Amino acid sequence: MTIHVPNIKLNDGLDIPAIGLGTYTLNGFAGVESIKSGIEIGYRLIDSAFNYENEGAVGRAVREASVPRDQLRICSKLPGRHHAYDKALRTIEESLLRADLDYFDLYIIHWPNPKQGKYVEAWQALIEAKKRGYVRSIGVSNFLPEHLDRIVAETGVAPSLNQVELHPYFEQAAQREANAKHGTITESWSPLGRGKGDGVLEAESVKAIAAEHGKTPTQIILRWHTQLGAVPIPKAGSREHQQENLDIFGFELTDEQMRTISAFSKDNKRLWNQDPAEYEEF
Ligand code: NAP
Repeated sequence: MTIHVPNIKLNDGLDIPAIGLGTYTLNGFAGVESIKSGIEIGYRLIDSAFNYENEGAVGRAVREASVPRDQLRICSKLPGRHHAYDKALRTIEESLLRADLDYFDLYIIHWPNPKQGKYVEAWQALIEAKKRGYVRSIGVSNFLPEHLDRIVAETGVAPSLNQVELHPYFEQAAQREANAKHGTITESWSPLGRGKGDGVLEAESVKAIAAEHGKTPTQIILRWHTQLGAVPIPKAGSREHQQENLDIFGFELTDEQMRTISAFSKDNKRLWNQDPAEYEEF
């Protein structure tokens, strides 16, 4: 069965699908097979990162899957240790070499690392990488509203997307609003709270919503993301989970059901205590 996934237009004109495949821990030959399976069943947006050490697996899956390259949206991320302008450009070149691709569709700054104070430089390097044709669209990840405001004020260029922690325990209303102010799409990392979600997938209220729609709790949570206007990128290694996660476009949650799921955010909690104002990733 082919699932129709709607597209979303980024502020620079590039279309991306409303759901993508996370790939953290999908490495090596097994990783290639999982990512290839994802592409074959309909994922067109594939998330990766220099620091996941799987750009090679992603690139191999892209070449082996029977989907034309221009229909895919491949994303990688700049690590914190390479924010300096020249290093950032060389790192993007190295990412391309690792993946053995001619270009990335998206390249994003993985974390702002504000204490290092180099994320504006990194953003200028991404702007240059786009001019050079290394990447079609540039964005950020884990940027708080003040980080977004600063790069836009200093360069005049708004990111096409901001990939942030977002799941029912952390619905990120203020962050989503700050992204929207710049025309920046919100992408949700750990959309399932890493599959455990502190119990949200087992919660009776979510099971009841799932039963009403004839869906699984996982599908309900992923649908919640898309109705918030965010793009979830669930990681799933097995074809079964990948298929289940993609099949979320034939039904609609009511406003009340949306509120029930958002209510898990009452403590507004980052599940791994990774506040971008403090947390550093190199
Ligand atoms: P996640 O997608 O919330 O959860 C992944 C876990 O859920 C895996 O253990 C997976 O198991 C399980 N799962 C997936 N589909 C399922 C289903 N239908 N039923 C039951 N279990 C299911 O967590 P994540 O990997 O942390 O986040 C997703 C992606 O976001 C990452 O892979 C990465 O690409 C990106 N990310 C970015 C950042 C950042 O700083 N920018 C940080 C974290 C993550 P199976 O594999 O066995 O299916």
